[in-house]
Amino acid sequence: MGYHRGEIFISPFISSVFPNNIYNSPPNYTVMRKKQKDWSKDMAYERINRLFELAHIEFNDHPERSNRYVELARRIGMRYRVRMPQECKRQICKHCHNYLVQGATARTRLQGTHISNTCTSCGKQIRLPY
Ligand SMILES: [Zn+2]
Repeated sequence: MGYHRGEIFISPFISSVFPNNIYNSPPNYTVMRKKQKDWSKDMAYERINRLFELAHIEFNDHPERSNRYVELARRIGMRYRVRMPQECKRQICKHCHNYLVQGATARTRLQGTHISNTCTSCGKQIRLPY
């Protein structure tokens, strides 16, 4: 019984001297890798938002540039497997990946239970429930 009590007393000391050692467990590489992945996803998410900001700013003067920004944002999303934010998704044509602006490159109509966006460059409809 006395031996057991001694062991319980000493164990927090050992784990503080050798954090992450054989005494506990080897360093967890899967957790480290996951953290790195999360970091790159955060960066990708920020870049996508920034590109959409730029697309919005540039649209008045250079509409073709905003199409390019949106294309880049879409590629970043695919590369890092980041889901597009909802409000960004609504600004891209599903079919030709054009940047959609209400009244300029898209016609927006209410149709009963959904919003219908018609892309003016490919003429196809994107339906959004509301
Ligand atoms: Zn289109």
